[in-house]
Amino acid sequence: MRYKTHIVSSLTAGASLSIMLSYPFHIGYVIGICFGSLLPDIDEPQSFVGRRSFGLSKHVKKRYGHRGITHSLFAWMLVSVVIIIYPSFFTVGISLGYLFHLIGDFFSVSSIPILSPFKSVRPKLPITYKTGSFTEDILLYIFTFLLFYLVFVNENLSFYLIQSTSELVSSIIHILMDYLKTISK
Ligand SMILES: [Zn+2]
Repeated sequence: MRYKTHIVSSLTAGASLSIMLSYPFHIGYVIGICFGSLLPDIDEPQSFVGRRSFGLSKHVKKRYGHRGITHSLFAWMLVSVVIIIYPSFFTVGISLGYLFHLIGDFFSVSSIPILSPFKSVRPKLPITYKTGSFTEDILLYIFTFLLFYLVFVNENLSFYLIQSTSELVSSIIHILMDYLKTISK
């Protein structure tokens, strides 16, 4: 899956979970999902996150290969430990985004070593798609439509998203104002 499809499909899954569990669709949760849904591809220097990793992805790829250990449930559990240490909308989002990325790649033709480092097998699912194919384009359109539908038709989601975004923006403005006051003294 390309990075756009990962982001949109993960946000769609995150919005669905919000609805099912009445979990707040907070801006921190949304940003966390976006970030988490890109993180596993840190093992590919040419990926969206790899190109922005300050060379880290080259080392990860050299050591583990693309779609290696970062695409396993073991890595997901390690990443999810941050929720226990720093529980927040953002860290919950990162963990979910990471998991949704793995599910997305699991359905691709090349699959993922889901049980790495214990087993290197890449189980193939009965329904698959090829990364970068026309099927993936269609999936991207479907997920984009579903995401807008879920967020804008469901008043709870859009209300919580708008409210938390305005709170975030106003706190950033406050921090900036305080900073400007201290440096102008
Ligand atoms: Zn991936």
